[in-house]
Amino acid sequence: MTRVGFGFDLHPLVAGRPLVLGGVQVPSDLGLDGHSDADVLSHAVAEALLGALALGDLGRHFPDTDPRWLGVSSLLLLKGVLDLVTARGARLINVDATVLAQAPRLVSLLPEMAKRLADTLGIAVDAVSVKAKSPEGLGLLGRREGIAAMAVVSVEVG
Ligand code: MG
Repeated sequence: MTRVGFGFDLHPLVAGRPLVLGGVQVPSDLGLDGHSDADVLSHAVAEALLGALALGDLGRHFPDTDPRWLGVSSLLLLKGVLDLVTARGARLINVDATVLAQAPRLVSLLPEMAKRLADTLGIAVDAVSVKAKSPEGLGLLGRREGIAAMAVVSVEVG
């Protein structure tokens, strides 16, 4: 049986933090704030994986009150989620994700993000799609108050 999972995440942009998306450090004057490295793309993929098996959300498994996850690479959290999913007999088939960021332009870094995610998830890079969309100046994303990401995954179960 094939199941689908959907994930969404949003983090605030602040000065003095690195911008990490899909495990790739992106040159930027602002970075994402959060307990881990605040990699909103990796978090959205992790949320989608958890969603595919109805395992709750990322905060349930990796609470932002736990000092073990302070400042860690979110690829580590993503691998932890993959292990939870794999332990239940599911196999990840593919990922399709979109990052919503007004700036910087991400297009040249998307293949590297897809590769880092694919390596972490143990699937082929052509099974991982990472896209970027501009919010066209609209709303909180357009004002660069934050960056959001959405992801869908499919998994094979049983
Ligand atoms: Mg998050």
